[in-house]
Amino acid sequence: MKEGIHPEYHEITVTCSCGNEFNTRSVLSKPLHIEVCSSCHPFYTGKQKIVDTAGRVEKFNQKYGRHLQKQAQT
Ligand SMILES: [Zn+2]
Repeated sequence: MKEGIHPEYHEITVTCSCGNEFNTRSVLSKPLHIEVCSSCHPFYTGKQKIVDTAGRVEKFNQKYGRHLQKQAQT
């Protein structure tokens, strides 16, 4: 692998708005502040909107899924 092609990576500290801190390697050379991280994002916690949305999709499929499948087969 030739040198000089890849950007220079630094070990930086990422601070989340939830208070979580973790280190990562980034081309940025200064600490980073983010709104959500893997420990407070709804997708990972599974406690917020994403669950509600999944429930609705499931209900929709139960109500219309079979009907639509039937139509697709004919
Ligand atoms: Zn967080």
